[in-house]
Formats: sequence, C-alpha cells, structure tokens
Amino acid sequence: METKQEIIFRSKLPDIYIPTHLPLHSYCFQNISKFSSRPCLINGATGEIHTYADVELTARKVAAGLNKQGVKQGDTIMILLPNSPEFFFTFLGASYRGALSTMANPFFTPAEVVKQAKASNAKLIVTQSSYVDKVKDFASETGVKIVCIDSAPEGCLHFSELSSADESEMPEVEINPEDVVALPYSSGTTGLPKGVMLTHKGCVASVAQQVDGENPNLFMNCEDVMMCVLPLFHIYSLNISLCGVRVGAAILIMQKFDIVPFLELIQKYKVSIGPVVPPIVLAIAKSPIVDNYDMSSMRTMMSGAAPLGKELEDAVRAKFPNAKLGQGYGMTEAGPVLAMCLAFAKEPFEIKSGACGTVVRNAVMKIVDPETGASLPRHQSGEICIRGDQIMKGYLNDPKSTELTIDKEGWLHTGDIGYIDDDDELFIVDRLKELIKYKGFQVAPAELEAMLLNHPNISDAAVVPMKEESAGEVPVAFVVRSGNSNITEDEIKQFISKQVVFYKRIKRVFFLDAIPKAPSGKILRKDLRARLAAGVPA
Ligand code: AMP
Repeated sequence: METKQEIIFRSKLPDIYIPTHLPLHSYCFQNISKFSSRPCLINGATGEIHTYADVELTARKVAAGLNKQGVKQGDTIMILLPNSPEFFFTFLGASYRGALSTMANPFFTPAEVVKQAKASNAKLIVTQSSYVDKVKDFASETGVKIVCIDSAPEGCLHFSELSSADESEMPEVEINPEDVVALPYSSGTTGLPKGVMLTHKGCVASVAQQVDGENPNLFMNCEDVMMCVLPLFHIYSLNISLCGVRVGAAILIMQKFDIVPFLELIQKYKVSIGPVVPPIVLAIAKSPIVDNYDMSSMRTMMSGAAPLGKELEDAVRAKFPNAKLGQGYGMTEAGPVLAMCLAFAKEPFEIKSGACGTVVRNAVMKIVDPETGASLPRHQSGEICIRGDQIMKGYLNDPKSTELTIDKEGWLHTGDIGYIDDDDELFIVDRLKELIKYKGFQVAPAELEAMLLNHPNISDAAVVPMKEESAGEVPVAFVVRSGNSNITEDEIKQFISKQVVFYKRIKRVFFLDAIPKAPSGKILRKDLRARLAAGVPA
C-alpha cells in the first residue's frame, strides 16, 4: 500500500519536558517560592502593586468565594472587564475552582455580551459598575449572579465577597488536564463566533513552549517588566501574561493604549518586554514624541494578532535601540501561539523582517495545498496546519465546526496561507478564511451578513475586508437591495452600528445586482476582495 509522505517542519530548538499533568494555576505558580515577594501585577493607573504571594493567595480566596456563590467545578463564569488586577484574580481563581472563564469584550453591545453569556452557559459574571447595565436584565431573568469590582450596585455582589473568602473553606478539586480552563470566542475559519475550548493541558503546553527550558523562544525572567496593554479578553494578551507569571516577571497593567501614557510608563517602570499589535507599532513609528522618552530598557518587542508590514517593522526598530522587534503568529484555536521569532532566545537567530518566526517547540507544522491536501515543500505557499498539545480541544457544542478545523489526524487547519523558507522562517502571505482583522480584533463576516439579511430592504449581502492603514482591515459590505428599495449606504451603516461593538461597524457599502457565488452557493469572497483591490468595487 502506498503511504503518503508528509513534509513536516519543527522548531530549530530542541523539544523540552512540559508538565502537562499540572493544572494551569499550579503550573503558573510552580516556581513562586523564588519570587514570592516580587511584584507580580502593577496597576499602571494607580501604581498599586500586588506581589506574587498576594496574587496567589487572592486567587485561592476567589476560588473559595466562587464556590460559596455556588460556582461548581466545570461551571463557566464570564469575565467582562478591562485590563485590571481583578481580571487575573478572577481567571486564576476560576482555574483553582476547576471552573472555566469565558472572556468578553466590555465594549460589546448588550446583545453581543448576552449572546456569549447564553452560549457559554455562564453562571456568574464579573464586571465593573459601568457595564452592569449590559447584563442586568439577562441576570435577573436567569438568576445569573453579577459581581462588581468597583462597587455593588443594586442586585450585584461586591468583588470583596469573592476576594475575602476564607481559602481554607475551598474543597479539594481534582482537575483533569483535559478540563477546559478558558473559553474565548472566535469565528475560526468560517461562520459565527464559537466558544474555543482551551484546556489546562493546552494552556500549560502553550506557555511552556514559549518560556520553559534552557533556551526558550521568548526569553523572559523575573527581572523583566512586561507591558500588558493589549486587552486580556483576547487570548494573545492573557497567554503572554501567563508566560510572565510563570517566569516571575512584573506585569504592568494598562487599560488602553494611548501613546503618551504608554511611553511614560515604559520610562517610569523600565519596561523590558512589550507585546504589541501592528496598530501600536504604527503609532510608535509615526510619533515624533517617542524620541523624548528613554526607551533604553525595552529589550523585546513582539507584534502579533495581525500582519505587520516589513517597512513598518524596520521603521520601529530604529526607535528602540536596545530592543529586538520580531513577530509572533497566533490563532485563538491554536492555543494561541503557532510560531515565534527566535531572536528572543538566549542564542538568537537572525530576525527577518516580514517573517513571523518558526514553529514553537513540541509541535509540528505543515503547509498543505488547499485543493489536494498534499503537504508542500519549502518556499511553496499553502494552508498552514499545526499539531501539538497546545491546540484547542474543539468548539463548544459544535462538533461539526470542530471537525472542519481539526482533521482526523489531529492537524488544526488555520485558514492562513504561508510558506516556510530555508531557515525555517514562516511567512504569512494571505488569508483563505473569511475572518476580518480590525487592529487585531476579530470581525466575523457571517455575523454582519446575518444582520444585513435581517433588514427587509436587503435581499443579499456579503462582507469582506478592505485594507486600511491604521486598522489594517475594515469590514465593507456588498449589498443587493430588495424589490424597488432605495435603501442608502448611510441607512445600512446605521442599522449595523446600533447592533455591534465599534470595530465591527461597516465602513463602506457597495451596491450590486447579485453577489457572486459558486454553484454551491458559497460567496466568492476572493472576487469581491479583488474588486476592492482593483479600486472598482461596484
Ligand atoms: P485570533 O484568533 O483573533 O488571534 O486571530 C488569528 C488570526 O490572526 C490568524 O489566523 C491570522 O489570520 C491573523 N494573525 C495573527 N498573527 C499574525 C501575524 N503575525 N501575521 C499575520 N496574520 C496574523
């Protein structure tokens, strides 16, 4: 029988031992005795510091508090918070409890939040008073408890009910490495946002792949100060922060990116590790005020979540004289990190602008022809696939979408197109999947298309990405009016704006007589993207 010869790529670094039997919190705090009195979380806005000992104890108290509030092992809680110490306390506390956290963007509209809370079957929501209105009605209809970190509006509990619980009352919990600990939402390669089941084992593997061993991909230690400005509800930020906790680094929390406070905090706290996204890289490149600050502490800047152009990468290098700037490549479903620039390793390899690193250790990657499924050699572009302990267990309550994403042999199909060069560097060149990335945030075309089709004056619609400098991509719609409707671009934009968070708003509407489709009925998105690229949308 003929056997298929697969072309497999691995990290240039040797595999390591990964303690995947440990629950995520035990793994993160495994070496805490070495740095228990050092700062773990620094609140950039207030200067308040929580040591490692504080954070570990508070997380155990929160676990006991969740238990007291009726949260059982395997239950889901929702974290609806901006970056804050309480985000960490809640996430790690839920992990200790054996519960799982679904993280939602606090800027979501009430309908978007409630949709996720219902789909994930959240039993309790941790939020702050300014967002309570988004979930109040849902909570009173369902009996879901709301916990508020800054006050206790009517019908809500104050966070101290969790954080001052008696940790000795927390029952022993036996956690299976396959238990889910995080449930971020992602649309993946197609369709609507789905709950991505990330297990204890997967999260431990992902963090270890980056920071464990003699010569880690992301060289970080307890002397480092890591900037945490990317939203923690996105797995990229949460994952890299857990890397920081594992090694004992200080995590400097910023609620949102603004260039001046960002630079001030880097200077004040001598930030050395800066995980960023392309829009932040762009802001730094364009801002002359960067030169007024001392940036010499910064030694590692890593951009991920969306493509970073080569020119931009080069422009920012000049502004951070002591820093290495490289890219990482992640996808929520992949746990999330697939590849990372090795310039951060103790024995660094050269960084190539435009590359997004090499596959992480203890994992394998292949590039496949999207038509035939055959694995491709170096320099040939195809769909990037990855296999390893770090990938998701599957989509919550959606075996069909899971099967479409993870094949029978355990390969996760990313929907991204790329190639690998002679030095094992991965270059992403295109996206096969529908996903739109606005400043690294996900916009699922299927979600906007469903809303458009709900409008009585629209008979068909397709949403695709359009390139835009500051956001990277913005969603634009091609629309077929129904009957003799005269619905306008502005009316359609407003109709959508009322229903979605700001980055999902449709930026342009182009009217067509028919949406181009394959005989199967599938929208020919490539044709629409090509029209936009050619500058002749309709
Ligand atoms: P998310 O699940 O929100 O992290 O989005 C994952 C997607 O973002 C990937 O599948 C890619 O399409 C894109 N992405 C992430 N990192 C990069 C990168 N370094 N270069 C290009 N695209 C990226």
